[in-house]
Amino acid sequence: MAKLTVSDLDVKGKKVLMRVDFNVPIKDGVIGNDNRIVAALPTIKYVIENGGKAILLSHLGRVKKEEDKPGLSMRPVAERLSNLLNKPVTFVPTTEGKQLEDAIDGLNDGDVLVMENTRYEDVKDGEYVKRESGNDPELGKYWASLGDVFVNDAFGTAHRSHASNVGIASNMAQTAAGFLMEKEITFIGGAVDNPEHPFVAILGGAKVSDKIGVIDNLLAKADKILIGGGMTYTFYAAKGMKIGNSLVEKDKIDLAKEILDKAGDKLVLPSDSVVAEKFDNDAAHKTVEGDIPDGYMALDIGPKSVAEFEDVLKDAKTVVWNGPMGVFEMSNYAEGTLEIGKFLGTLKDAKTIVGGGDSTAAVQQLGVADQFSHISTGGGASLEYLEGKTLPGIAAISDK
Ligand code: ADP
Ligand code: MG
Repeated sequence: MAKLTVSDLDVKGKKVLMRVDFNVPIKDGVIGNDNRIVAALPTIKYVIENGGKAILLSHLGRVKKEEDKPGLSMRPVAERLSNLLNKPVTFVPTTEGKQLEDAIDGLNDGDVLVMENTRYEDVKDGEYVKRESGNDPELGKYWASLGDVFVNDAFGTAHRSHASNVGIASNMAQTAAGFLMEKEITFIGGAVDNPEHPFVAILGGAKVSDKIGVIDNLLAKADKILIGGGMTYTFYAAKGMKIGNSLVEKDKIDLAKEILDKAGDKLVLPSDSVVAEKFDNDAAHKTVEGDIPDGYMALDIGPKSVAEFEDVLKDAKTVVWNGPMGVFEMSNYAEGTLEIGKFLGTLKDAKTIVGGGDSTAAVQQLGVADQFSHISTGGGASLEYLEGKTLPGIAAISDK
């Protein structure tokens, strides 16, 4: 069933609690990049332009002891938000109590308030009590009491049951998805539940063990699964091929065999690789077909594989990409990832979806991000979504 979205709500005059993802990189109080704050603006603006009072909650980093708190205050985030919105934003340096309640009571329609880092609740009087990340029922109930409706726009934490997402939602009559969350549900949820065919998945990255759940789930749904990256060579080993010094998970070779048997010709492995003498951009390297020679490690897929993958991808209507094709951080082994990324950008009739932290970084680094239908904002969350798991943060959003 479709989920309720912020645009379905009448927010006028309402206290709108909003769980956003303001978990930005921050060092000595300086924000490294504000992408996530910018990404939350459409939902925030929608609420305030329609006369709601926006009360924003987010976590920032991990708070495990009192000393973690000062460096993980939400204050600089609230200041940046104020600059981006070009209007005052009230920052409340606490997560509960009279100061917070009075500040909320004092809000006018269209005002914005940011409360302190929700994970400050994880440490009380020096003890690591995990009230936020353990979804303490009293905390969720308390936060819910501060608002009239709840909007969850934080996909990045949707795979976790925390007080600030699931806890609040379970104490609210109505929980709606924000626009970012809605897009994740439409694209990733859509690809997993009801893809337009041909549906092709490209799975890469370092390890089979990280992606086994995704491979399993997508084998049942995709028409083809193209494998690249380091996990290729565990599959090579499973086929009895030589892998040289390539990355391998020895304890996953049997599992890889099982997958190969089950998948038949649905699963496509690279036919050639770029191999190097060392894990080093400046190491001697060359392209080889099939077996990886002794003394070499495979660090990228080769040009023949790229052409074969493109041949499968050219007719696709839905493409999900998770995991780079090679060690894209080093320029000599970035070609496979770059070529696949560029090619996906040319597929105008297909829904193209990227999930996974490093894959997203690769696509951004390559400057092709805006060519995709959807770039997921959550690493762990998108992986679990692709595994077909129910994400508690999404399950807690009301149906339309
Ligand atoms: P994502 O975050 O997109 O899910 P992963 O974390 O699974 O992706 O994998 C990304 C990492 O895999 C990158 O750091 C990349 O360098 C590494 N990788 C890709 N191909 C290889 C390879 N052939 N050998 C070793 N590491 C690889
Ligand atoms: Mg990663």
